[in-house]
Amino acid sequence: MIWSSIIPTTIIFFCWRLWQGLIPVDVVIQRRIGSHMASRCQCCSAIETIHHLFIDSCITNQVWRHFSDIFHVTLWPMEGFQYRFQSWRFSGRSYKVNTDGCVKDGFASGGGIIRDSSGQCFCAFFSSYGECPILEAELRAIFDGIILVQRLVLSDLWIESNSTLAIHCITKGGRPWSIQATLSYIKYLLTFDRDTISHIYREGN
Ligand SMILES: [Zn+2]
Repeated sequence: MIWSSIIPTTIIFFCWRLWQGLIPVDVVIQRRIGSHMASRCQCCSAIETIHHLFIDSCITNQVWRHFSDIFHVTLWPMEGFQYRFQSWRFSGRSYKVNTDGCVKDGFASGGGIIRDSSGQCFCAFFSSYGECPILEAELRAIFDGIILVQRLVLSDLWIESNSTLAIHCITKGGRPWSIQATLSYIKYLLTFDRDTISHIYREGN
């Protein structure tokens, strides 16, 4: 979600560092240098941790509450930063992504179409993948679709592909080593209890 073109680059990298736990608060510095120096938050007497500064300090709480009232989001005091960040994704209509990959004259390409819950075309995408097997082209088309959906900050994703093998690899695991990287990225980006991925016959795709 953070890799969106509408977010300034400095904010994106700040969020990424925050996500990775790299913001140099006292506890992070202590861990880096292996020392137990004294730590005190600027706003209260608590130890300065990322969770405290960005989730539960008195000032941060006011900011979260201000925006939670605007966006009607429930706050849970003990949830971690990553969880809260993800749960604040825009919860609008659901979107369906139909993807397809192909190999012609040894060169692979793939693409797809994103439609909203009323069936209206939201956007379409297409990429060339150079020389690779058809299974990799199918997976890369799925991957491109997920990336695009995340950049557009859409939620409740439903992906359909006419490749039973690609769906099987994502949901059950795949063997060929050549697809492992793409497969790992897809699994990392998908939230299986919220997003849906399923097979559709070629005619319906
Ligand atoms: Zn504090």
